[in-house]
Amino acid sequence: MANPIKLPKYSVGVGDRFAHEAKAQLQAFILAEGKGIDIVPVWNKSNREHNIIGSEPSSARAAADEAVKVLGWKKPYFADADHINLKTVDRFLQPCDFFTIDVAESRGKPADPQAVQAFVDTHPELAGEITIPGIERSFVTDRRFVETVANKFLAAVTEAGEIYRHVSANKGEGQFITEVSMDETDSPQTPIELLIILAAIADEKIPIQTVAPKFTGRFNKGVDYVGDLDKFSQEFGDDVAVIAYAIKQYRLPENLKLSVHSGSDKFSIYGPIREAMRKYDAGVHLKTAGTTWLEEIIGLAEAGGEGLALAKEIYAEAYAHREELCAPYASVIDIDPAKLPKPEEVDRWSSDQLVSALRHDPKNPAYNSSMRQLLHVGFKVAAKMGRRYLDLLSKEEETIAKNVTTNLFDRHIRPLFLGA
Ligand SMILES: [Zn+2]
Repeated sequence: MANPIKLPKYSVGVGDRFAHEAKAQLQAFILAEGKGIDIVPVWNKSNREHNIIGSEPSSARAAADEAVKVLGWKKPYFADADHINLKTVDRFLQPCDFFTIDVAESRGKPADPQAVQAFVDTHPELAGEITIPGIERSFVTDRRFVETVANKFLAAVTEAGEIYRHVSANKGEGQFITEVSMDETDSPQTPIELLIILAAIADEKIPIQTVAPKFTGRFNKGVDYVGDLDKFSQEFGDDVAVIAYAIKQYRLPENLKLSVHSGSDKFSIYGPIREAMRKYDAGVHLKTAGTTWLEEIIGLAEAGGEGLALAKEIYAEAYAHREELCAPYASVIDIDPAKLPKPEEVDRWSSDQLVSALRHDPKNPAYNSSMRQLLHVGFKVAAKMGRRYLDLLSKEEETIAKNVTTNLFDRHIRPLFLGA
């Protein structure tokens, strides 16, 4: 076997819906390198996004390769098949080298009772008092609890194993990175549930390098975290400790780390994540997928003229179709319809007004999170415009690129990896 591909300690997932901003994104990683910190980019795009836009995974890979070549990036970089399952994985096999396995559909499906019994029998260490280095209090569980958790997750983990083996048969063992994601579920997983899931993943022989649990609180698209920060902080730290423990206990890959599917812009949790990384000397993978598209709109608005007119037109269309656009994201957005300005009103706005409403600066009184969320999920409108939209992206490339790079570096990379 060739050397297995390893995901470095710090990585950031970036999304690029229209495959136009890879260079501007990579520029932010180059800035980080200049500050002495190694972070590698992972370009991620889900099947859902590809379907909405009408794009193929190979186009995301081509855009990443091109950016890497033009800017002379010598460090690793990856293309992530984000949230795939057995039905959707095939077109990602060739272009991707990072697979985020989503088993949402199997979660909650009753597991095979025999498999559950076998799991509980093989893991007597999971029942009783569990002490995890780094966590002061201990966890007390019993057989019944392990059984309940296994019932909830074992079918999903078994399916993740099937998907992993399917990818492995096609790409070769060790030739890609595997993540298992559970973030798109109804309730968060507790640290001890995470431990049980990791034990099952190890039994299934999935060499996971990143795991994405669902954390406590709301992770709405494109806006800040809503929830109890102290609780998040404790849970995140506990999860990191659980992972370090599981790596030893179940011989999982030593670089296994948490993946935070942030839905973008969870500024207020960066502090707690940074603290946990420091305390445990842990790495992290942060997915910040969708805001690049918002920076395109902001860049167009900032450019004025045709760009501003198109940004307004996109808002008007998104406003008219808001219900349809929001439906697939219902569980991850909180839009207050009363806070959405009428398109006729926005039509009279200056470039500055539109930029201030959309740019994620919560301190700016003109910032409008409802409007931002609507446009965040409204990329289908721009996709339908086809060339008209893409041509303007090229025409206003400079203004847009500046916004994309600044957003990624100043609002994400800097606070998370360099500190305020
Ligand atoms: Zn996710």
